[in-house]
Amino acid sequence: MTELVDAPARPAGRNYVGGEWVPSASGETYTKTNPMRPSESVGEFSSSTEADADAAVAAAERAFPEWAALPLATRAAYLGAAAASLEARAEQIARDMTAEMGKPLRETRMETARAAQILRYAASQAYYPVGERFEQAATGSDVSTCRRPVGVIALITPWNFPIAIPVWKLAPALIHGNTVVLKLAYEAPLTGLHIAEAFAEAELPPGVLNVLTGRGSTVGAALVRDRRVRAISFTGSVATGHSVRDEATKLGKRVQLELGGHNPLIVMADADLDRATEAAYAGAFWSAGQKCTATRRIYVQDEVYETFKEKLLARIERGKVGDPSDPEIEVGPIVNEKQFEEIMDAIQRGRSEGGQVVAGGERADDEGYVIAPTVFENVRDDAFLSCEEVFGPVTSLYRFATLDEAMERANGVEFGLSAAIFTTGLGAATRFQNEAQAGLIHVNSQTAGADIHVPFGGIKNSGFGPHEQGRAALEFYTDVVTVYVDA
Ligand code: NAD
Repeated sequence: MTELVDAPARPAGRNYVGGEWVPSASGETYTKTNPMRPSESVGEFSSSTEADADAAVAAAERAFPEWAALPLATRAAYLGAAAASLEARAEQIARDMTAEMGKPLRETRMETARAAQILRYAASQAYYPVGERFEQAATGSDVSTCRRPVGVIALITPWNFPIAIPVWKLAPALIHGNTVVLKLAYEAPLTGLHIAEAFAEAELPPGVLNVLTGRGSTVGAALVRDRRVRAISFTGSVATGHSVRDEATKLGKRVQLELGGHNPLIVMADADLDRATEAAYAGAFWSAGQKCTATRRIYVQDEVYETFKEKLLARIERGKVGDPSDPEIEVGPIVNEKQFEEIMDAIQRGRSEGGQVVAGGERADDEGYVIAPTVFENVRDDAFLSCEEVFGPVTSLYRFATLDEAMERANGVEFGLSAAIFTTGLGAATRFQNEAQAGLIHVNSQTAGADIHVPFGGIKNSGFGPHEQGRAALEFYTDVVTVYVDA
């Protein structure tokens, strides 16, 4: 990897609490390694404990009254300054992200740019109206609504979008006057600490944003239990999300969950097959399939099944798989050895349940945790691969005869995050928009990908609570208060 000249210093592997860089109270650290070169350390990071969570929540609680009292436009200025700081260090962040969790550089550059855009979008919310005005029924006097911040909010984030997801949670939280404790994913601490560094450079008042690294089962769980934390926004797996929700709602907290997906792509016989192929490839294999919105099932109409399959296999043949720090590479490694083994086991299970591997299915690098883009066919609808999220570059092809059949099978899972159709027919496109059971619906685009200014979130087992991003974020990060005024 080429070292950058004049690159901003990497943040040290410490927590950011009350405006200071501090080691964990336990004094313990862990080593994060590079999934492409597992013998290479990316850095040492704090193994935070309950005491660190306690200190971070206390700092956020102290900072809340003053932060909440600032004019929106003043808060917006801090977000704008942090965006500029992220942009100044964007290349370093992208390279660090690639090194610590293996996402190809071409994607980590895009994700970093997107994080800065999210901050600027959130800052723009300072200039939108908040609240509504009515007349009281009996008197005609004023009655209006306003929005107030909720208080201290804990954000618990996954490793697979280590800058976009923390930022799309903290930006609306902060602009609307809340203070934040952000718990970074164990597998991606360095990228998240860059966010803290950007806000430190922006001279955010101490305690408004606090950032912790370490194990979810210790520091994450402590935040969920802490009664001073009023709301929790969580993105991650279904099992952890549900346990966080159950614990938090018992304590009367507001909870938002963004969870896994099992996202279908339907290819109709009238589709533009070249575009559909590209969308299937990107949806299934970019980020090595480690996206909640990745394409897991591809339903292809009988008449074009063989042609589409040939095109997809040819695209895989042309695909660039390997070292993610090479900007040409499209598919890099899996985040760590454990996930790598789980995906290889799932591929084995797919085979043993009768599925046939028509591409990939094996390790693609001696050292790095790289799995070749893998395509199955003849997988039963009730097989493991058709129902459970396998978080890697694995997808399956299914034949169908009619749109009725495709819709039923596409909707036949517990998840409801994203769904896509490729067709040139208005009827099929319209029906899909009305009937696909997903929070995100794509007509002639891939299942992954989302704009920053529109709502994002899943239905069924893929989510819980209000959606994120865009104006939808207001619902989670503010309380509505109704005010009756009589002279
Ligand atoms: P994960 O559930 O293992 O961890 C998510 C976060 O929760 C991490 O910060 C982790 O440390 C923390 N955590 C773990 N145990 C905890 C506990 N007991 N209490 C509190 N916090 C705890 O998920 P992951 O492996 O980091 O991420 C991958 C998963 O996230 C996939 O299932 C993917 O589909 C999902 N995801 C969903 C979306 C979405 O928007 N719907 C986006 C990205 C990822």
